[in-house]
Amino acid sequence: MLLEASGVNVVYQPGRGERIWAVRDVDLSLREGEFVGIVGESGCGKSTLGFALTQMLRPPAVLDSGMIAFRGTDIASLKGDKLRRQRRRGFALVLQSGMNALNPVRSIERHIGDLLKAHPLPGEHWSGEAIRSRGRELMGMVELDASVLSRFPHELSGGMRQRAAIALALALEPELIVFDEPTTALDVIVQAALMDMIKGLQRSRGFTAVLISHDMSVVLDATDRTIVMYAGRIVEDRRSVDMVPDRIHHPYTEALFGCYADPRTDEVVLLDIPGTPPDLSLADHDCSFAPRCTSAIDICFRERPRLCDVGGGRVACHLYSEARREVS
Ligand code: SF4
Repeated sequence: MLLEASGVNVVYQPGRGERIWAVRDVDLSLREGEFVGIVGESGCGKSTLGFALTQMLRPPAVLDSGMIAFRGTDIASLKGDKLRRQRRRGFALVLQSGMNALNPVRSIERHIGDLLKAHPLPGEHWSGEAIRSRGRELMGMVELDASVLSRFPHELSGGMRQRAAIALALALEPELIVFDEPTTALDVIVQAALMDMIKGLQRSRGFTAVLISHDMSVVLDATDRTIVMYAGRIVEDRRSVDMVPDRIHHPYTEALFGCYADPRTDEVVLLDIPGTPPDLSLADHDCSFAPRCTSAIDICFRERPRLCDVGGGRVACHLYSEARREVS
């Protein structure tokens, strides 16, 4: 297994005594070469989980408890140089907006040079020509002209900036790349081209990818496996090809599915999910989705459902644990 996370809890502590549970009790494994999507409404904890998996959490977010092992090393406990060395060998994060990831007063080539020099392998020396050559190679991978190397972020379009940010993520040849809403704020044509490029890179270079998105259609189209999050918890986890209406299990997944146009069908009927997500500063002793769930039964308001193996995936819903109890 490339990465294993267990019992991960991430808390935001915005002020004295305030605790907001952004990620709750997440257990997750990522295999080598897998392309996994994490989907859910804004505030469901998907980006925070992505930051936790790459050890990029910054205050007021803290990893409250849990273990995150990358190739068997608990990266949650690594700090300073040890974390930098592990990051050099392992994982990268592509942020929502290329502009946020790039320094406005440095050219793209300077970004690449800074990165390579900050993480040299033993005996490696990066001369100006070596950086330029690696830069040209990276620009080719993300389908940008080599002339982009001498340009500054403000001289590039949103799509080009995002490609440059992906080139930076690829520079150290990581085994895992987390893409946090990489196509947000781009128009649909640029979005589709960028996603095609990401899919192509993932297949040709073989890295493990995690795509975080609020857009179910983007996730279903690109990934091998889809994880659905609600109120900080994983509520469903199954192969993307099995995420079709007659096989979906969790009522939230079903509701979410109704909010998006499935590119695999001709019929488009868009629905909304009534109600609002719960207050994440409160403990959840019941099913957080119960007030919005049209299938809720008594136990849903008393007991929190556990994530169980159901039909080739994992689902956290009493409907399935109750059905299993009746059968046994
Ligand atoms: Fe709905 Fe109950 Fe399942 Fe929660 S546990 S999603 S309330 S049926």
